[in-house]
Amino acid sequence: MNVYITEETIEGAEDGPLAGRTVAVKDNISTENVRTTCGSAMLEDYVPPYDATVVSRLKEAGATIVGKTNMDEFGMGTTTETSAFGPTENPVAEGRVPGGSSGGSAAAVAAGEADLALGSDTGGSIRCPAAFCGVVGIKPTYGLVSRYGLVAYANSLEQIGPIGNTVEDAAALLDVISGPDERDSTTRDEGADSNYAAAADGDVDGLTVGIPTELVEGADEGVLDVFWDAIDDLESQGATTREVSLESVEYAVQAYYVIAMSEASSNLARFDGVRYGHSGGYDGNWNEVFGRAREEGFGPEVKRRVLLGTYALSAGYHDKYYKKAQDARALVEQDFDEAFAETDVLASPTMPVPPMELGESLSDPLKMYLADANTVPVNLANLPAISVPAGETDRLPVGLQLVGPAFEEETIVRAASALE
Ligand code: GLN
Repeated sequence: MNVYITEETIEGAEDGPLAGRTVAVKDNISTENVRTTCGSAMLEDYVPPYDATVVSRLKEAGATIVGKTNMDEFGMGTTTETSAFGPTENPVAEGRVPGGSSGGSAAAVAAGEADLALGSDTGGSIRCPAAFCGVVGIKPTYGLVSRYGLVAYANSLEQIGPIGNTVEDAAALLDVISGPDERDSTTRDEGADSNYAAAADGDVDGLTVGIPTELVEGADEGVLDVFWDAIDDLESQGATTREVSLESVEYAVQAYYVIAMSEASSNLARFDGVRYGHSGGYDGNWNEVFGRAREEGFGPEVKRRVLLGTYALSAGYHDKYYKKAQDARALVEQDFDEAFAETDVLASPTMPVPPMELGESLSDPLKMYLADANTVPVNLANLPAISVPAGETDRLPVGLQLVGPAFEEETIVRAASALE
């Protein structure tokens, strides 16, 4: 199944809220003295000298870390097939992908190899694998969880978040990892008094659930059957539903990929084989050494994105691509604000399609990017979202996504728990 890249146990404190619980950690989150590869040959031998803040918090909370999980290279993918260490198979759907990029983390939880897991979500990488593996995943509000020690893919979009078998489990892990951190100046105080696990009380009486037309109309029929059944279920428990519109999400996938690739091209420039990353041991001038280290160290998807990102940022094209994408991002944010003026949460299928067959996506990157249509708008708007299992189509898991206003993780946890 290929869940872990490095299987090594790290014991936490003797007691604490996670004592006796095992946690798998995505391999782009730094662990002191334990290899952290980002699923890349570039970092195959990299051993961080320090822990990410979330890892320190896991240890203090008494968790036992059981391994570093497989992922798309540097988080770039939707299927965990771009990993330099080979793909992970979906433990609940034979021959299918587990989703990505945190596929190893979701698979570890779904297969019972760990009680809980950490993933990171730049454009859906927690919610997609949670949906495809039939488990729960939360992408926190931007600024709720420290990114110190997370190897950056696209800083302005990503957050570390929890994966668990139940909403309460995932929420309890969020309680441990969230909160301000002096080492990450983008963390905020909001949400500090929250108790996410306690919010998993299933009480949706009086809740207004908005259903954005644009996030529903393109989904597969089998996915939609499951989705509408879940909406009926919420209504029967006292929630009110209404249709809403997020007009600008038609630009979201394009804007997301321009921003993500641009930030990635700049972040990944540090892997030059001299200071950081794989070095072929070559002699020569800097350009030759740099070029060969990167030729060998990066896989095809990473190279594609570095090239496109560099192009989008280059003089003369910056306004045409990067700035335009930022403008679209602002419009998406505005649409969500307007939708939340009349609703408490927004519901959609997490993924418009069920888990793809292994091997199907690598040859068609555009199709893979389009599968992120429902998850990337949430990152563009910095909002919190949860994916909760809603049922199956042809024995393949379907996840339902609930999005909330900024720092209202308690509301999405409450609504998701009503569906369990
Ligand atoms: N599939 C998206 C991408 O490839 C999201 C990945 C992520 O969230 N890390 O960029």
